[in-house]
Amino acid sequence: MTYRHDFYCDHCGKCCLGLGATISVSDNPSPGVYRCRNRVTGESWTARGEARIQKGGSGCPFFRQTPSGSSGVCMIYADRPLVCRQFRCYDLAVVGLDGKIIARVKGTALTTKDTIIQDLFESVAAPSDPETRGEWLEGIRALLAARGYRVVM
Ligand code: SF4
Ligand code: SF4
Repeated sequence: MTYRHDFYCDHCGKCCLGLGATISVSDNPSPGVYRCRNRVTGESWTARGEARIQKGGSGCPFFRQTPSGSSGVCMIYADRPLVCRQFRCYDLAVVGLDGKIIARVKGTALTTKDTIIQDLFESVAAPSDPETRGEWLEGIRALLAARGYRVVM
């Protein structure tokens, strides 16, 4: 699900399985209408969606995984809560040829299985001053882009 027009999302569903677990359905007054609550933020809202909710599974009851399990969709996308609209799973990400995110930088931490990206990332010293974090991130972006990686921020 693409949460913001300027935020690249590969639909991996990790956030829906993680933070989505805080979303619960308190009532289902009519078919396709759900009264929902975020157990952490206390946000309450009404969502409309065609799919039946998933009961007893892990993660958000409105998340549907594809058969392969590699991605998924939000069944109440137009009525998703604020936490989902605002969530960003990275500050910088690298997108692979298949459109999947292959590396994420959040804060000053990198998550990737790609050893080349790992080495490039480690070649740049992490910022000691939070004020220079933006500059540092831009340096990482430029380094990766120069090696031909597709970088999104
Ligand atoms: S974890 Fe990130 S890339 Fe994956 S679905 Fe959520 S916002 Fe999209
Ligand atoms: S409401 Fe939609 S976007 Fe938010 S966690 Fe659930 S499935 Fe994901």
